[in-house]
Amino acid sequence: MSSDTPPQTDRTESRDQSDDSESALQTVVDQLSEVADEIDLDPNVVERLSHPNSVYEVTVPIERDDGSIEVFTGYRAQHDSVRGPYKGGVRYNPSITRDECVALSMAMTWKCAVMDIPFGGAKGGVQANPKDLSEREHERLTRRFTHEIGDIIGPMTDIPAPDMGTDAQTMAWIMDAYSTNVGETKPGVVTGKPMSIGGSEGREGAPGRSVALIARKAAEYYDWSLDDTTIAVQGFGSVGAKAARLLDDWGADIVAVSDVKGVRYEPDGIDTMAVPSFEEEPEAVTDDADEVLAPEQLFELDVDMLVPAAIGNVITKQNVHDITADLIVEGANGPTTHAADAILEERDIPVLPDILANAGGVTVSYFEWLQDINRRAWSSERVNNELDQEMHAAWDDVRTEFEQRSVSWRDAAYIVALSRIGAAYDARGLWP
Ligand code: GLU
Repeated sequence: MSSDTPPQTDRTESRDQSDDSESALQTVVDQLSEVADEIDLDPNVVERLSHPNSVYEVTVPIERDDGSIEVFTGYRAQHDSVRGPYKGGVRYNPSITRDECVALSMAMTWKCAVMDIPFGGAKGGVQANPKDLSEREHERLTRRFTHEIGDIIGPMTDIPAPDMGTDAQTMAWIMDAYSTNVGETKPGVVTGKPMSIGGSEGREGAPGRSVALIARKAAEYYDWSLDDTTIAVQGFGSVGAKAARLLDDWGADIVAVSDVKGVRYEPDGIDTMAVPSFEEEPEAVTDDADEVLAPEQLFELDVDMLVPAAIGNVITKQNVHDITADLIVEGANGPTTHAADAILEERDIPVLPDILANAGGVTVSYFEWLQDINRRAWSSERVNNELDQEMHAAWDDVRTEFEQRSVSWRDAAYIVALSRIGAAYDARGLWP
């Protein structure tokens, strides 16, 4: 394991000069310093929050099914724990980098604080393509990665969860490998587990549910009737499909959904239950569709609301001018680059940010962790009711800042988060 080196930051760069070449890490640090100025956050706290507490880089050798050994690189970035244990997903992606993990770990710190749940932020990943791994290889990779980061995770220290390329089964292997290492069953070491070993009702659908709840709140705020609202959703995986199906159920017209192969476009509204989600059948969104558009055409559609719910950095300086939607709700983490975000703000297109909109995932992770500690499961009604309450409370907090300070929705969410984190630093101080 190697310890951290701070991210290189140059906060003299102004937002106007930033472009899409700015790294995800630079973007988060820039956003932090902008909002810190707005709320007069202690510069010492800003300095601390501009760096991760630790970043671990580990070598993960596994035996492939053909008997050869392949070595993968894994990371776990722990950003901040002033409000509670580090929390955040583990992703398997061939292009994951150290800096991306750091940026995503910072976003987790803000996300937990916006929701006022008692966790800090972390994110991990292994540079591997899950599509290239057999189930057994996926298991070996997960167990070995868990072994390598075994000293720094734990139910009270750092709690991984599913993210891109990982799922409930991955969490089960992490939990088993960790528990075997410590000699005691520890369900609370991960969230997003299968129900049979302490997972929670409603966890899988929670990020999509929160996206739908925030989309509905935003529609209400702008005096739209959901019945008259047309929506395009990028990505039909666990977040996009769940959000689309709920919004469809609540009366909205989902006119376009997409996957990597293309866009299924039905101007009269898609029956979202009839389209297979990624989990039901991967990359089958456009199968048997009457009208299929190229993936990039999704953003050009004349819709009221756009929900990017696939991967990061998809709304960029290059395509932001094609967008004609009146509102964007971010389902993925970091779908909008900093430069594109500034242009959307100039164009008066509100963006409901990821750290609020998809925070249902980590919120139900928190519920799962509570259930694990208490060894008592909640009903799905209780999970969904409490999630709805938490989302509505966070919405109200963010809306208050949005209205009182006349800032963007993203800045308003950052303000809520950073005020809470700043207060925790005020109370605890810096020691040793
Ligand atoms: N990976 C999810 C996210 O980005 C969930 C994290 C968690 O539940 O810890 O929010």
